[in-house]
Amino acid sequence: MSELPRIHILSDQVARKIAAGEVIERPQSVVRELLDNSLDAGASEIEVHLESGGNDLVRVVDNGVGMGVDDLERCYLPHATSKIRTDADLLHVRTLGFRGEALGSIAAVSRLTVTSLPSTESSLPHRIEVHGGALINSGPAAGDRGTSVEVRSLFYNIPARKRFLKRPQAESSLVRSVFVDKALAHPEVSFRLFSESELRLYLPGADQVGRIAAAFPGQSQPALLQELHGSGDGFRFTIVAGEPSGARRDRKHLQVFVNRRRIREYALVQAVEYAYRDYLHGGLFPVAYLFLEVDPELVDFNVHPAKREARFRNLPVIHRRIVDTFASHLRAFNRSLPPDLPVSPTLTGLQTHPVHIQQNHTSGAPPTRWSAADANLRTPAPRYGPAYDLSRSFQVPDEHETIGTTGVRYLGQIFGLFLVVERADRLYLVDQHAAHERIIYDRLKDGSAAQEMLFPVQFDLDPELGSALEEHQTELAQLGVTVRRTGSEAWDLTGVPAAVSVDAGELIEMIRELCARPADFSKELYASMSCRAAVKDGDVVSPATALAIISGALALSNARCPHGRPIWTEYSREDLMRQVGRL
Ligand code: ADP
Ligand code: MG
Repeated sequence: MSELPRIHILSDQVARKIAAGEVIERPQSVVRELLDNSLDAGASEIEVHLESGGNDLVRVVDNGVGMGVDDLERCYLPHATSKIRTDADLLHVRTLGFRGEALGSIAAVSRLTVTSLPSTESSLPHRIEVHGGALINSGPAAGDRGTSVEVRSLFYNIPARKRFLKRPQAESSLVRSVFVDKALAHPEVSFRLFSESELRLYLPGADQVGRIAAAFPGQSQPALLQELHGSGDGFRFTIVAGEPSGARRDRKHLQVFVNRRRIREYALVQAVEYAYRDYLHGGLFPVAYLFLEVDPELVDFNVHPAKREARFRNLPVIHRRIVDTFASHLRAFNRSLPPDLPVSPTLTGLQTHPVHIQQNHTSGAPPTRWSAADANLRTPAPRYGPAYDLSRSFQVPDEHETIGTTGVRYLGQIFGLFLVVERADRLYLVDQHAAHERIIYDRLKDGSAAQEMLFPVQFDLDPELGSALEEHQTELAQLGVTVRRTGSEAWDLTGVPAAVSVDAGELIEMIRELCARPADFSKELYASMSCRAAVKDGDVVSPATALAIISGALALSNARCPHGRPIWTEYSREDLMRQVGRL
């Protein structure tokens, strides 16, 4: 006896409800889809009205091209679209929508009314009413040109889904965020958001900077936002870049739009963060908006139901152009010496060649020669005394040790932290740790040879972390760190960087940490290595080391430590004179 088959085919109606749930999750997705449609219809003015955060009602009204009766009676059907015809058209999509799924999905899970009059006609508008996917009414109605879409009682016919809707306030704030996303990408369009019949946000047509400022009142000052442009083969972009000083502790204002859709493309977010890396401490994120327009043939949005992700063909080129564009703008925020005070790039010289100490007219001492080894930048300075002892906080060096190249006079160390320097009518306080760290960091960035270890140090690593490490092995080798896999979880550290001195155990700890979060692996590794190899706060440094650090620091083109903090402060003679009332 054969059993009854257990498999049956779902009815169209059930299948449609399920599919609709993928596109429409909550009022926010309704608003997203309806705004896309209004924008695709070329509207210059759009209103969104909510009741109960959209749970009871979402109404979107636009002054776009509108629909005639035939289109109205079709628009809510599954796979109904005017935007593409064949699959070949998918390659050239220039509209926000193209799948013909939105109205169909909304219609399946709500009570939908669409009223529309084509912008070219002067008759009465037409209205259709659709409940749970079925056409209930179709006839003339009152209204203006353009389209008004009303979505009532969302999920009234799917109680399981309705239960997941949040309180009106929570839903309405989700709506607001998608509303703002759309408005940011279409600054020329006027947007109004009403909730319970009250106007909550009005964004009149503006330029890009004006739109951002209006969308986040009190959060981004237009004066601190700079609009930049760039382009390349098949793409162009507008960037609105905030000053480093306006950085935030979150990524709220680090936003990426591609072809006017806000997307969460990690590579592009990372490009922006990378561009700001030398200007911001760890944990701070820039205010920066990227609006990228890519030739539709080079990008595919058909990878995510809500089009939040995309695939690009020429991502590396785009990435580079973006970083370059930011970089040339951000250079204005570099902290470096004024051009009338040239300094020689002493450090590379220090390592391999002897350095001459110039005889300075204030010093009667004979010229002295000392070598790179004395400058001791390869290794942390020996600790002369207890870490930060107040009684020793001002270390006065011997006269003959104090004059560096290019007329730098080292006066001593204060607070176990600052190197005090006089040069050409200026007083500098150099943060010894930050400066040393930056110098080592730059040196590592230029690559380092590996110093092979006599006895490799064994360590173990989870297979997962191990494969991350394998991926970064070449990068590591360029830094002078060589490792070898000796078993499924067993590794040897076989070489350490010749350019800096770091403890093998510490190095292994850093590798372990970085394998667990491999983004920006080598940058993080330079930063950790430089931080650990640099002299610490409270270290008493020898005058030779101090001078080497000072001339290195003053020669930097961007005098910030790898975390983005400034390395020194300076006071001119006039500054000081003014402070004591002499000027
Ligand atoms: P898609 O946007 O992917 O084409 P939708 O289901 O969102 O699919 O809309 C179906 C069709 O209805 C659109 O292709 C368009 O022709 C028409 N339409 C929807 N909304 C509007 C509107 N606000 N103004 C004019 N036409 C609209
Ligand atoms: Mg659509």
